Amino acid sequence: MNPIAASAGVDFKDIHVETPDVEKVAVDYRQLRERWEAASAAPARLAVFEQWDALRRRLASWQALTKLRFDQDTTSTERKAEREHLDEISPKLTALETEMQRLLLASPHRKDLEDRLGAHLLKLWEADITSFTPAIEADLTHESNLESQYTELMAGARLAIDGHHVNLTGIEPYAQSPDRALRHRAQLARAKFFAAHADEFDRIYDELVSVRHAMARKLGFSNFTGLGYRRMHRVDFDQAEVERYREHVVRHIVPLAKKIVQRRGDALGLTELAYWDEGLSSPTGNPAPQGDHDWIVAQGREALAQVHPEIGDFYGMMVERRLIDLRNRDGKAGGGYCTAFPDYGVPYVFANFNGTHGDVHVLVHEMGHAFQDWKSRSLPAYDYLTPTYESAEIHSMSMEYLSAPFMESFFGRDAERYRRQQLEDAVLFLPYGVSVDHFQHLVYARPEAGPAERHRMWQEVEARYLPWRRYGDLAHFAKGGFWQAKEHVYHVPFYYIDYTLALCCALQFWVRSRENYEQAVTDYIALCARGGEAAFKDLVRSANLSSPFDDGTLARVASAAGAELGF
Ligand SMILES: [Zn+2]
Repeated sequence: MNPIAASAGVDFKDIHVETPDVEKVAVDYRQLRERWEAASAAPARLAVFEQWDALRRRLASWQALTKLRFDQDTTSTERKAEREHLDEISPKLTALETEMQRLLLASPHRKDLEDRLGAHLLKLWEADITSFTPAIEADLTHESNLESQYTELMAGARLAIDGHHVNLTGIEPYAQSPDRALRHRAQLARAKFFAAHADEFDRIYDELVSVRHAMARKLGFSNFTGLGYRRMHRVDFDQAEVERYREHVVRHIVPLAKKIVQRRGDALGLTELAYWDEGLSSPTGNPAPQGDHDWIVAQGREALAQVHPEIGDFYGMMVERRLIDLRNRDGKAGGGYCTAFPDYGVPYVFANFNGTHGDVHVLVHEMGHAFQDWKSRSLPAYDYLTPTYESAEIHSMSMEYLSAPFMESFFGRDAERYRRQQLEDAVLFLPYGVSVDHFQHLVYARPEAGPAERHRMWQEVEARYLPWRRYGDLAHFAKGGFWQAKEHVYHVPFYYIDYTLALCCALQFWVRSRENYEQAVTDYIALCARGGEAAFKDLVRSANLSSPFDDGTLARVASAAGAELGF
């Protein structure tokens, strides 16, 4: 690791990562393999492991920076070319990496690694080696290409609303307006964008499903689902558990969600809530932060320092070292995420502020990811730096609830309304989250289905989990196209149930923080420091939380949320 990163954090402008030369990396790998074979004792073998780990951190930093630079300006031909080069060589780097993993897993000395680094590491590698064969290199490049096409298509959206042109992030304030007609026009503009590009959205996904299915078959899976789970490193739960969990959502969460929808409708004086009304938590409008980008960034320090002084200091470092990009700009990719440069030991937060309460939500959420990354940056294996997603989202979503008591910093007198909306939105999110998951299981089980059948699959899951949903004259959404707005479906298959599993854990932190705030935060920070050194269920247990898969967990969460919301 870069020495300056160890204490203070490095400034973004000082992060330089050379584009790797695949031939040279291949030579590095050959030497690593030879040194491993030649090593006569455990310390020498562990030294080889450490050299390899440093190489992986360097390559990961280059990948993160190249993707980030493209997302910051998808219209730059230079950045796009770098991103395309990455898409092309990444499978070759993965090939070298899995070859090394295979060698170590098959080695008579694998126990040296297990003793020093834990058995979880070897399980992660086993998932990696069964997810890759050199025969799928071209397929992986094709897949990344298609994912970039989706990013560009979404980033290029220009929606006309009341004489203005905005992108998909910029439409959101209109979509949350207390003026019902304006909310409706905003959603019509969104739906029209998706309708206008319907063929493109269908073609990209159709090709993604085909190429993913083809890779799965080459790797010996019957369809992509099994491979998708492996790629997500799910080593401690399977499809059957996920299916049961979705059932629990139907039983315990959907009834509560219906009550929230009903109450929002009553407050608006509507007999039936349309889709464009769902996001409004109060007739006077959603609580909004009381200042602009710079003000929100400044207030973040005060709010997060109250969660814990260490978290406040960390946040200050992120701002001072310019490890954030939160402004919405034309040509910038949508969404928000946290990435990291493990070679330098610092995270980076990317988002698109639009003046709504979502700005505070995304800031706090991504800072939770970033704080975990920072706390666990010195773990001894690259594979442990980022946990599997369902664990990683606990850090981000729990930060939302641990910081909830300090929302006065952003919303002043509206903070209480923000907290109420936050909890209501959590309940409404769970059924939507499992819909996205269930849909993908249906899609990959029938790769031969065409676009029209996939749209029907989405309608089927919507009817099950979101029975209140009414799209009215938003034609593209009404005929089953709503899922196309969700980038995870295109970019990271099966990444969505993770948010709901993590939310179930974050809500447990919320309950505990109201009983004993200090203890909850102590457990949270300890969990962040563990990074991904264990699988989901182990991490959850170590933080004194119940597994969302256990009978009763979701029911308890639903009852605590229901009581707080007055149902
Ligand atoms: Zn997240």
